[in-house]
Parts: sequence; C-alpha cells; structure tokens
Amino acid sequence: MRVGQRLGLGFGIILVLIIGTVFCVSFFLHRISETQKTVAVHTSNRKNFKELREHIEYWLITVKEIVKERDISHADYHEQLETSIEKKIKDIELGIYEKDAGDLLNEIVRLFHRLGKLDTTMQRYPGMGKDIFKTIKMDEVMKTYETGVSRLTKVLAVFDETITLAYKQAVAYSKKVEKNCWLSTYIVVAIAVIFCIVYAYRITRYVTKPLNLLSAATKKIANGSYDIILRTKSSAEIEELFNAFNTISLKLNTSNRKLAQTYKTIKEQKEFFDTILSNTKDMIFIMNKENKIEYMNNAASNEYGYAVGRYCYDAICNRGTLCHQCGIKETLKGQTVKMERTIQGKVYDSIIVPFVNGDMHISKLEILRDITERKQLQDELERLSITDKLTGLYNRRYFDDILEKEVLRARRHQHNISLLFIDIDKFKHFNDTYGHAAGDKVLQRLGNLVTEQIRKGIDIPCRYGGEEFTIILPETTNRSAITIANRILNDFRNIKFRVPLENKTIQKTISIGIAELGPYNNAKALLVNADEAMYKAKKLGGNRVCEYEFNASLKSAKSADFLVL
Ligand code: GH3
Ligand code: MG
Ligand code: MG
Repeated sequence: MRVGQRLGLGFGIILVLIIGTVFCVSFFLHRISETQKTVAVHTSNRKNFKELREHIEYWLITVKEIVKERDISHADYHEQLETSIEKKIKDIELGIYEKDAGDLLNEIVRLFHRLGKLDTTMQRYPGMGKDIFKTIKMDEVMKTYETGVSRLTKVLAVFDETITLAYKQAVAYSKKVEKNCWLSTYIVVAIAVIFCIVYAYRITRYVTKPLNLLSAATKKIANGSYDIILRTKSSAEIEELFNAFNTISLKLNTSNRKLAQTYKTIKEQKEFFDTILSNTKDMIFIMNKENKIEYMNNAASNEYGYAVGRYCYDAICNRGTLCHQCGIKETLKGQTVKMERTIQGKVYDSIIVPFVNGDMHISKLEILRDITERKQLQDELERLSITDKLTGLYNRRYFDDILEKEVLRARRHQHNISLLFIDIDKFKHFNDTYGHAAGDKVLQRLGNLVTEQIRKGIDIPCRYGGEEFTIILPETTNRSAITIANRILNDFRNIKFRVPLENKTIQKTISIGIAELGPYNNAKALLVNADEAMYKAKKLGGNRVCEYEFNASLKSAKSADFLVL
C-alpha cells in the first residue's frame, strides 16, 4: 500500500471515530438531560403536592370554620382556595406515577367535590347569611366533612409516600444514568484518543523508520562507506526511494573506486614527477599572477634559497621591480616564451609556459637551465673559430666577414675606413734558414706588436694567411693609417730576434700596403687595393709602407733605411 493510501485510510478511520464519538457523547448527554428532566418533573410534582397539601389544609380549616362555627365570612376565601386547589392538582403530572397513586389522587378530587356541596348550597342562596344553616342538614354535612377529612388525610399521606418514593427513585435512576453515561463517554473518548495515538505512532513509525534508515545510510556515505543496500517491505514510494538510493549508492561506490584508483595513479605520478623535479639540475619555478613564487624545486632552492611567497624578481633577479626579460606580455597572451637570460652573471636557457591552474588562476612555469659553461665553451669555440691559433689575431674567415660588415657600416655612416696589408719580407728564406719554429716566433711577435699598436675594440687585426696580416681601421683616413703603418713598420724592424745556436740576433722587416675605401668600391676592391699597395712596396724593395692611389701611380710613403737579416 502506498503511503498516501495508508494515510488516507487512517485519517478516514479517525474521522469515523470522531463522528462516532461525537454521536455517542451527544446520545449520553441527551440521556442525562432526559433523566434530569424526569427528576425535575418529580421535584416539581413534590413541590406542587406540598403546596396542594397546604392549600387543602387551609381549605379544611376554612370549611371547618364555616360548618362548625357557622361563620360564612370566609366563604370567599374558601372559594379562592378551591380554585387554587384545582389548579394545583392540574399542575401535578399524575401520569408518571403508578396507577394506584393516580386513583388515590382521583379520590382526593372526588372527596373534594363531595365536600364542595356546602359551597354549592351557599352559592345557591347567597342572600341568606347565617340563616343558610337552618336550610342545610348540618349533621349530615359534619359527618361528610369528618369522614372526608379522615379519608383525605390518609390519601394524602399515601400519596405523599408514593410521590416521595417516585422522586427518590427518579433521582437515583438519574444519578445512575448520569454516572453510566459519563463513564461511557470517557470510555468512548479514551478509545478514540488511544486509537489516534496508536495510529499516529504507527504511521509516524511507518514513515520515520525508513527515513531513519535513509538518514543512517546517508551518514555512512558521508563517512566514506558506499557499499550500502537498503531493503524495505514498506510502501511502494519508500521502496522506490530506497531503490533510487541504492542506485545512487552503487554509482557512488563505483565512482569512488575509480576516484581512488585515479587518486592512487595521480599520487604515484606526482611522486614520480616530484622525484624528477627534485633531482633535475634544471631550476623550475611556478609564479602566480602577482609574480610571487608558488613552487620551486630543489635545484632552484639550492641556487636561490627557499623563496616561495617572494616576488620572483626579488628572489631570483635581485631586483626591486619586474624585469623585461620575464616575457610578461607573451605569457599574458598565453604564449610560451623561450629565451636566453642572464641572471646574476649566469646564463640560462629559459622556457616560460603560462597555464591556468585548478582555481582558474593564471600562473606561469619557468624552467631555467644553466648554460653558463656551455655558453662560455660556445663563445670560446666561436672565438677560436675566428681566431688564428698562432698569433691570437682574427683569422681569414673572420676577416672576410667583418671587412664586408665594416665597409657597409662605413658607407651607412659615411665614415672613412682604411685597410693595412702587411707581409713579412723574405720570410721563406728565414724559415728555411732558422726553422719553422723560429718563423712562428717571428709571426707571434708581429701579432703582438700589431695588437699593441692599434685601438683596442675598434681596429681589427687579422692574420690573413701565412706571413700576411691585415688591419681594418674603421673611421680612419689614409693619413692616420700611414702613421699607424709606419709605427708598426719601425717597431717591428727594431725587434732583435736572438738565434741561440749562432749567438746572434736577427731583425726582420715588413712591407705594408694601405688602401682607403673609395666612393665606388667595395670590400673586395679595398682588399685588392691594399694588396696591390703591399706588392708595390715589395717591388720597391720591401721594408716600406705604400698607399694605394686611385688616380695616380702607387707611391712609396717611406723607404726602408736598412734591411738586415
Ligand atoms: P717576399 O719578400 O716576396 O714576401 O718573400 P717571401 O719569402 O716572404 O715570400 P713567400 O710568399 O714566397 O714565402 C712565404 C713563406 O712564409 C713561406 C712559408 O715558409 C712561410 N710561412 C707561411 N706560413 C708560415 C707559418 O705558419 N709558419 C712559418 N714558420 N712559416 C710560414
Ligand atoms: Mg707573402
Ligand atoms: Mg713575405
């Protein structure tokens, strides 16, 4: 049965019970009222009878006065009494008494009328006064009076007893009925109330028992045990509710198991990644939107100390404000930024990845890989790749590139640029005579000299090949270039190279060609011109500086004073 049907049935029964109870109570009250009415009638009868008796007694006294004393002065009063006695008799309900009692009362009436003959006689002869007694046979009247009084007294006594007994019986009966009716009322009301209480308890239990079961099961679920199955033999609704609950519980159990498995997997993966993060040499940071560090791995803590909660620019870069290197614009656009960063003297490969974490909170992940050593190595390799090993000057490869660039730069800024081309005189012979090692020392010495004589960071000295050197002189006119070339020429030829085995010194000379960038030529032409100028110097005997002239023949700046080997 469904809860609604059960409730409906229960309330129907209660309604019927209430109606029945009201009906019973009304019936009992009606009965009480009826018996009370009977008692009231008896009470009234007793009172009326008492008054009747008093009236009769007065009447008898009056009759006696009239008859015995021959006094008719009370005749009117006698008449009034008669009337009121008749009235009083009518006021008494004789029907409710025994038949005998009724007969006795009838006797009263009958005697009353017999004694009433006197009245009739007096009324028949109203003007006679006391003479009336001469016309009435008084002895007969007296006899009737006394007999009547005697019989009346007896009848009144008997009736008094009857009416009193009837009254007492009526009162007793009324009390009994009242008592029984109230008792019955209490019983009926008690039955109704007990039924209502029992029904209310049962229906409450009927509804609350499954609810309590449901509540206990919900608490179990809240405490983490999901394998709960509820069963009931209760109503269809409760059964449906339990079935739905069981389905939810089952699904929760399944999802919980999956969740637990997922959690375990995530935990294992987290531990795995934590191990990787802790042991990687790369520094890993997670910064929040305010650029505060939210996470840093071991490598990062080892390098910068534990700095979670601090601003990244303060903790990592040792700055008061955000640096422009942080790729803030790109990360805000959701772009990954890869760059090379220099932080506190170290060079890092940096990858900055923006991401949104679980709280829809924009953060960025930065991975810093220390590439300082690699960078130094790279720089060194680069330096070596453009450096001549023997002299430490730039090599031919670098020269070709840089000359091109410098020429373009000079053109752009409309600056002068000059090029020196240096070649050691008769170096083959020197090599052949004193050995290759000695030749190398001469080359090294020339390299040092060139480096000493030029502007550091501006002029570019190169070993062009073999015993040939070039010097690019940016923002330098021919005139200045000649000065520099002569300085190098003079200083070099004054160097005395010691020959240990022969205990002597040797001096070497060089030839220098100078060319200036003309208005229409390029890097290649500049080199050719300088080379041409150098050959010119050679042709003139070497140990001199020659400048390339565009329109005139090449001229020697200065001849060497001596050439000593
Ligand atoms: P010139 O006055 O005409 O320049 O005569 P030269 O002998 O200097 O000219 P040449 O170009 O014939 O000779 C160059 C010599 O430089 C040949 C070689 O023995 C020498 N040489 C080239 N590279 C090196 C080097 O790396 N070390 C040494 N020791 N000698 C070198
Ligand atoms: Mg040469
Ligand atoms: Mg030479």
